[in-house]
Amino acid sequence: MNGKSVVMVPAKTILNFQSGFVHKMLCDGPTFSTGSACGYSCSFCYVPAIMRKNPHGIDPSLKHEEIVVRRENPIEVLRRQLTRANGKPKITGPDEVGRVVFASPLVDVAANMDLVRETIEACRVILELTPWTIRLLSKSNLLPKVAEGLADPAIKDRVIYGVSTGTLDDRLAQAFEGGTPLVSKRIQSIHWLQDKGFRTYGMICPSLPLETREDYWDFARECAEKLRADRMEHVWAEVINVRGESFERTEAALREAGFAREAERLKAVSLGTPESKLAWEDYARWTFEGHAEVYAGVPGKLRFLQYVTKPTEAWWAARENQGAVLL
Ligand code: SF4
Repeated sequence: MNGKSVVMVPAKTILNFQSGFVHKMLCDGPTFSTGSACGYSCSFCYVPAIMRKNPHGIDPSLKHEEIVVRRENPIEVLRRQLTRANGKPKITGPDEVGRVVFASPLVDVAANMDLVRETIEACRVILELTPWTIRLLSKSNLLPKVAEGLADPAIKDRVIYGVSTGTLDDRLAQAFEGGTPLVSKRIQSIHWLQDKGFRTYGMICPSLPLETREDYWDFARECAEKLRADRMEHVWAEVINVRGESFERTEAALREAGFAREAERLKAVSLGTPESKLAWEDYARWTFEGHAEVYAGVPGKLRFLQYVTKPTEAWWAARENQGAVLL
């Protein structure tokens, strides 16, 4: 699958009723995932670090970039999680109406047509057994195929689609993502969804350090224009939060693909020295300020995810009304 070996693992759950993604405002608590390792292999992916605990007992010599981990019988497991012993739906009541469930915290929901079909099935179960709204995120250009499977008027408005990219440059994206479709194809797919009246949102992440302060403003404006952000419900954005191995992988991937300046800029903000920490903060603030200016006229539209520390918290907290989301 996507050029990787598939590992099937037994799983007791597909749905996490109370995930940390609520803090990112991507959902109201619940997330679901039919797999544990993705069809793609982005250099910055945080999943390998999570999977290091090896909850599924997979052969530890297999690396994230070599395998797709799928959960056995995901649809049955999901149905069971959402159903009481008497066969009636578990999630009912006015408080549950419109609560947002997010997919996926661990894998791409549309990395190939098999996964597209699995995602459609999982969404159908959730839409049937709960009054929730579903938010799907992908780096694929196959989201329209998912949407076609969920296009009945009765459910169409209960799904929100987002594609993520941290750059508009096809070559650059290919350098530090892994096996993903071209950004330009992804953008076409979000336009298709918008033109067909599906609900969409933006995910401009992870974006890299740029050369000058002005470049961040230009980048934010260009993203808004190309993604047609005016048609989106919300726009999330985030800088690249690479640590440890994922930093080394990303820097190496950029260099290998001929993006030496991008690699140098990333290195300069990631060394961990006092100067580098200041440079990191400038990078994050300028990225935020660029986006904040673009969405200034639409309160609540921007959701800029930012990990803060004691010394930086006050600056970011003062900008929550402009869209800063403190993590
Ligand atoms: S698409 Fe997402 S989950 Fe998949 S490898 Fe890339 S960052 Fe990780």
